[in-house]
Amino acid sequence: MTQVLVLVELADGALDSSTSELLAAAAQLGSPAAVIVVEPGAAAGLAAELGALGAGTVFVASREGAGSQLVTPQVAALKAAVAASGDVSAVIVSNSTDGREAGARLAIRIDAAYQSDAVGIASVNGGVVVTQQAFGGSYAVTAGTGRGIPVISLRPHSIEGAAPAAAGTVHEIDISGDTTATTEITARHEQAQASERPTLQTADIVVSGGRGLGSKEKFELVEQLADSLGAAVGASRAAVDAGYCDHNMQVGQTGVTVSPNLYIALGISGAIQHRAGMQSAKTIIAINKDADSPIFEVADFGVVGDLFTVVPQLIDAVNARRG
Ligand SMILES: Cc1cc2nc3c(=O)[nH]c(=O)nc-3n(C[C@H](O)[C@H](O)[C@H](O)COP(=O)(O)OP(=O)(O)OC[C@H]3O[C@@H](n4cnc5c(N)ncnc54)[C@H](O)[C@@H]3O)c2cc1C
Repeated sequence: MTQVLVLVELADGALDSSTSELLAAAAQLGSPAAVIVVEPGAAAGLAAELGALGAGTVFVASREGAGSQLVTPQVAALKAAVAASGDVSAVIVSNSTDGREAGARLAIRIDAAYQSDAVGIASVNGGVVVTQQAFGGSYAVTAGTGRGIPVISLRPHSIEGAAPAAAGTVHEIDISGDTTATTEITARHEQAQASERPTLQTADIVVSGGRGLGSKEKFELVEQLADSLGAAVGASRAAVDAGYCDHNMQVGQTGVTVSPNLYIALGISGAIQHRAGMQSAKTIIAINKDADSPIFEVADFGVVGDLFTVVPQLIDAVNARRG
């Protein structure tokens, strides 16, 4: 079976939470092979973990200072892994900031087509077919992958299931000859985390509030529901513009794109620009007092009612279930 390379990102030396999903996506196309850039000596434990997550082969590039170099070592490692493998049917990266950049750079280096922000991936008649969303999520576009080895960035939470465990056989690759200029991180300034909540872009559950909350003080209700569910907090642009919450919480066309398993919209009308950032969520629940609100067109479950009546009851019910 041909290999499908997956760029593995690290977070504080541990496998990023996207890894399992990327390997599951790779397993739909061929034999998953992980590509990882580590400090010398750091690969052993990670390779075993990658095997358990489905990587038959783990291409390891060891590089002094890997943890403080931005993206170019990963691009060199992917290119070296493509050459070392000899039979690659696709390269999959996360649709994270680093993943997108590494994917685009690799595509240029190996003269291949690049498709970003895929929400689906399949093997059809021996070729790779990718699904992307277009026009603010109003349409799903399915397309072949053009010339060369397809390079694809995958939106988090797009693929269900896991790849079966595999050998995780380590294959060292040499990127010492790569002379591409690398941006080095020379200092890090830790910023106190605003909250212990999960990251909005990758959270399993997102609770978002809109203008219907009415004020910054009342927006706390969104946070209370989110905390009862262990969710991230999002917002509509109207809520952000009104100062109810921070701008980095904005979901939508000009905010972040989320694709959680559960998205709860409170007092959000569901304008096309908001939906562009959330309608690929697996399950959408909307609470809105206007039954004609467009958010109900994309919601799987809806409550027509005053959120200030409904949400406190919902929080009580969630807390009661959690015991
Ligand atoms: C170029 C461009 C880019 C944009 N990008 C984004 C973007 O990235 N993200 C984004 O969100 N928007 C974006 N917008 C703005 C977008 O068009 C909408 O204006 C915005 O999403 C509306 O936010 P909202 O739903 O919170 O407010 P509204 O549209 O005012 O809706 C408020 C909702 O709350 C409901 N409500 C009120 N009180 C209650 C209550 N007590 N209980 C229950 N329901 C209640 C109302 O029925 C209403 O449906 C963009 C617009 C443009 C032009």
